[in-house]
Amino acid sequence: MALAHGYDVSDYQGSIPDDAEFVIVKASEGARTEQADYTAKRDEARSRGIVLGHYHFLHAENDVQGEVDHFCRVVGNVPAGELLVLDFEPYGQPVADGAATAAKNAWLAAVKARYPNNRVGLYTSVDWWHRTDDNAADFLWIADYVAAGSPRIQAAWRFHQWTDSPLDSDVYNGTVDDLRAWVGAAASAPALAPGPSASWTTPARVTRDQWGAAAPSGSYTPMTGALGIKIHYLGEDYQFSDHSTCAAYVRKVQAAHMANPSEHWVDIAYNELVCEHGVRFEGRGHDVRSGANGDQTLNSQHYAICALLGSTGSTTPTDAQLNGLRDAIEDYRHNAAAGPEIKGHRDGYSTDCPGGPLYSWVLAGAPRPASQEDDMPFTEADIRRFIREEVTATALPDQVWNHPLPNIVKQADGSWGRDGSSKEAFWWLVWQDVFHAQFMDAVSKVGLTPEQIRQALADGTLHVQVTVAPAATPKGN
Ligand SMILES: [Zn+2]
Ligand SMILES: [Zn+2]
Repeated sequence: MALAHGYDVSDYQGSIPDDAEFVIVKASEGARTEQADYTAKRDEARSRGIVLGHYHFLHAENDVQGEVDHFCRVVGNVPAGELLVLDFEPYGQPVADGAATAAKNAWLAAVKARYPNNRVGLYTSVDWWHRTDDNAADFLWIADYVAAGSPRIQAAWRFHQWTDSPLDSDVYNGTVDDLRAWVGAAASAPALAPGPSASWTTPARVTRDQWGAAAPSGSYTPMTGALGIKIHYLGEDYQFSDHSTCAAYVRKVQAAHMANPSEHWVDIAYNELVCEHGVRFEGRGHDVRSGANGDQTLNSQHYAICALLGSTGSTTPTDAQLNGLRDAIEDYRHNAAAGPEIKGHRDGYSTDCPGGPLYSWVLAGAPRPASQEDDMPFTEADIRRFIREEVTATALPDQVWNHPLPNIVKQADGSWGRDGSSKEAFWWLVWQDVFHAQFMDAVSKVGLTPEQIRQALADGTLHVQVTVAPAATPKGN
């Protein structure tokens, strides 16, 4: 078995050797030192498709948090599948072995917390491996200048630095395919639910300049190690309207956030907003933390994407809006190193945000809507069953229920109407918009998409109670 071979490089080495199958690049040291060539080597490794690691040389006498922050700032966003390593060989550092070990463990834990999608490991010498405890976080990279692949330790190891002459040379404990499979396993993200519907064409994103954003009143905090996306709604009354009004609404949200007396936001809180027409509006944008309120620690690990959607008024996202949100999620995954999670604001914090209908979409894996044309996916039988089983209405005579349903159609302008000319009581309900309002309210309360409602009706798992207001009592004609 040919072990995968690679190198670890710092500013002392000018380049990454041509035959490298992996490379671990020095990024930083102590609380301030940064490698001049780090980004160039990192970018070269990425463009060559070599398995890549980033390492930090610990000064155990320093405040550990300062070293963690320094390293995270230097490496920034790190895609899942790249490795993060602590170089632990505190020779000559004025600390006892126990204190050095504590610093090592604190660094490993803090970096793992910041980069949960990356493997975090330890580099050390055999000498120091015997002087410290056996915590190497996710993997051990051991230095012992003997035959490649035969370090003189009992513990399991992943990498072996077997010589430092003429270059720091390493092997992986497996083939290059094994190595790729190992790092790839850490990188594998849950698949998004099915891809774009044929009828959706992603509109251009509206930049801050285009929507007339005010300049931020302070600086942003960089985002590192984002676990993924959190979806929000406006949390206030909102009415869908013409797209020509959307930029003004986003400006209004920004103004309200910047005037918020308790949050002290420097800008609109969200990284991105998506209107009901499916258009994305740039908020704080890529690579910076949101200002989403509530639990600051929780929110610091997710980008915040807000749907222009009300807690009252227009409360069910449009298909275009779901497509726009999905576009935003894909954008942040590809261009801002967002991890695989898709959550709602209510996850981990006491809030209704982002509302039932949108949260159910989040739980479903943020799928593209099935079809833009499928505005009325209910069969007549579905609707009949829904009304009979789920809507509690008194004094409706049997003839109401027994009458064939009118043909309910959604008009081109989005309103609900009918064809035919039935004069029966049930038809009166529909025509007065009572049925529609109650039905849509029920749908929003249970937080399901129309497709899920239909499925739930079909398999009998849906149980909703809706009380029809007295005004809805039919006239009995
Ligand atoms: Zn929210
Ligand atoms: Zn719009």
